[in-house]
Amino acid sequence: MLVNLLKRDSFFQHSTLLLSGLAVFLLTSCDKSKQASDQAQTVSGSTLPDEVLAAKPVEPAELFGPEKPVDPNAPKAEPFELNKSSIVSILLYHDFVERIPKTEMMVSVPTFRAQMQALKDASIPVIPMSDLLAWRRGEKNIPDECVVITLDDGWVGEHQFAYPIMKEFGYPFTIYLYKKYVNIGGRSMTFAQIKEMLAHGAELGSHSISHQALAMKNGKSDAQYSQWLHEEIAESKKWLEETFGVPCRTFAYPYGNKNDEIVQLAMDAGYEAAVTVNPQKVTWDTPPGKLGRFTQQWDKDTNFKLAVSFHGRNDVASSKFVKMDAVDEQGNKMFDLKPEPNSTITERRPVIEVGLARVGGVVPDSVMLRIGGYGAVPAEFDPASQTVRYQIPQKLRLEECTATLVFRRADSDKDEVVSWKFKIDQKSSYLPPEPVTAPDVAPTASIPDKTTAAK
Ligand SMILES: [Zn+2]
Repeated sequence: MLVNLLKRDSFFQHSTLLLSGLAVFLLTSCDKSKQASDQAQTVSGSTLPDEVLAAKPVEPAELFGPEKPVDPNAPKAEPFELNKSSIVSILLYHDFVERIPKTEMMVSVPTFRAQMQALKDASIPVIPMSDLLAWRRGEKNIPDECVVITLDDGWVGEHQFAYPIMKEFGYPFTIYLYKKYVNIGGRSMTFAQIKEMLAHGAELGSHSISHQALAMKNGKSDAQYSQWLHEEIAESKKWLEETFGVPCRTFAYPYGNKNDEIVQLAMDAGYEAAVTVNPQKVTWDTPPGKLGRFTQQWDKDTNFKLAVSFHGRNDVASSKFVKMDAVDEQGNKMFDLKPEPNSTITERRPVIEVGLARVGGVVPDSVMLRIGGYGAVPAEFDPASQTVRYQIPQKLRLEECTATLVFRRADSDKDEVVSWKFKIDQKSSYLPPEPVTAPDVAPTASIPDKTTAAK
């Protein structure tokens, strides 16, 4: 991802320089203009390795002539800093029903309303998919923690039951339609119903032509299969855009069924992103062709709670949020947290550790550690020392990282949540790798073969 970031940054940098010089170089000779356009092509095509682009000195004065004098009265542009540590949960709903769900894909009106209300009560913003895309393009910031709502398949219940509630809350949403289930009677939405929603805050996404599993060849020849995939992925986008006159920027794999080839085809077809049914939050590092979604089934709240649990403020009703610097009756800190809260670390693969000895009596199965950018991670819990430990497997890319631990004491029926942040020194990203140092243990202690106690 770092490579991509560099690419993105150097692209913006070059584009800005090119634009600022544009007015001037248009007035200069054709040769210079040709030279500049060659440069533009090379840069936008990213044919140069990133290191070369980053290291290459850019001299606009030489390329485009003298720089325009700055107008002292011109309004200063607000410095824009992109927040790459936002986390987004995409909710996936299908059909809705007034009272009791008849299939797992249905959610009842009272449950849906309660969920929308819960988002509002917990101050979790609902953003349109287009904002998520703009953030990923580096054009705007979105809230640290927010939700995108998507409705699949084009069921009439989406218009009849969900749409009025979302209108009431003022929530944007995206509908994923497949051509064969648009305006065909039965429980499909009509053109008019779809257009009405698109005119009032809904965005359009493609869910293919036929809603068949795309990775299944089903006896087709290679040529037939690739033609079919092209129709399902690329032609469906074209049809939706022509039919409804709005852009269709994202794709939802039917049943979440996909492979690397299909993901690539979706990107090649011009979608900015594609959504799956893997219940994972979207971060800056999530590949655009694999944005996870949390499927809402029956009237169960499980996936909803998973989706809206940001830094432990989930289950606001059923969990207890404990301050990271909470102390026990003797005034000792309840949690030993590593890395230290609010510290800046240079190790980009830190060990995340929570000592719960002073909490005591923690139920091993209740322990869940979540790391910003990773989601829930398979941390180890050593009941003897009451320590939770997780070695970050890859270098952290965020400037700031949030770790959240959920646990329950044996004598309690409430989950407790402790959350803290630390910063990662980004400058260390550009330094050569440091020699491997011994783990952070007392120098006199002998290091056992196994660094963590068996669970
Ligand atoms: Zn579907």
